Amino acid sequence: MVIDGLEFARRQGVLSGHLRLDALPRLAEVLFDVSGGLDYVVSGASDGGIASLSLQLRGPLRLICQRCLGALDFALNVRGRLMLIEPGAHWPSDDELGGLEDETCDAIEASREMNLAPMLEEEILLALPLAPRHEDCKPPAAKLASVSPSPFAQLAKLKRN
Ligand SMILES: [Zn+2]
Repeated sequence: MVIDGLEFARRQGVLSGHLRLDALPRLAEVLFDVSGGLDYVVSGASDGGIASLSLQLRGPLRLICQRCLGALDFALNVRGRLMLIEPGAHWPSDDELGGLEDETCDAIEASREMNLAPMLEEEILLALPLAPRHEDCKPPAAKLASVSPSPFAQLAKLKRN
């Protein structure tokens, strides 16, 4: 999954396939399990002197619920755009296309050997909720407490006797 960035954009290349989750170490850290994968499409474009890559990713993920630590199904469907900057060329300032304030397009330095996997992984990580949670679940500690009576309840019972 290595492309010559500017060349790929210039000839409007398209690359699609299936990305295995267990090949993405940073993503794996936030997943409940890494079986399966995602479908991706990367397409290059060159418009008015601006070379860019569009990334699309889609597929099911199993995140970890931050409350009960169980599996949480999440349907990923994300698109992102990366603007390719030639080495040494003008880097967009914050308020320009591809600049820091542009949330739809990030600038990235182009090279002849660009590995797509980490770029796709970054796009996935940005699309995930910061604190994924089930709509209705209990933390493991609370579940435990409701099953076994708390020490205070036991104490109250003793005092009554
Ligand atoms: Zn939960």
